[in-house]
Amino acid sequence: MMKRKLMSELTYSEKMQEELEPIRNKEEDSKPVTKHTRAKRTGNLLLCPECKKTNRIYHFSWAAIVCLNCKAEVNKYDWRIANEQT
Ligand SMILES: [Zn+2]
Repeated sequence: MMKRKLMSELTYSEKMQEELEPIRNKEEDSKPVTKHTRAKRTGNLLLCPECKKTNRIYHFSWAAIVCLNCKAEVNKYDWRIANEQT
């Protein structure tokens, strides 16, 4: 009985860690936009520095764009390019 309870507690905390991992890594996996950044044909996912949500863009010929999620106007070089692994 004791052993079984311990096992389920362990599984629970492992599960919690798994759920937290993608959120924590999202920003670390991203890279900053530079003047050398080129858009991909399929578009790029930009990570908003304000709300951490992603916006898909298809070209970089703008100086600043408004985040569709939080409506903040973010300068080009303040955005980060999210690492897409879907
Ligand atoms: Zn935003």
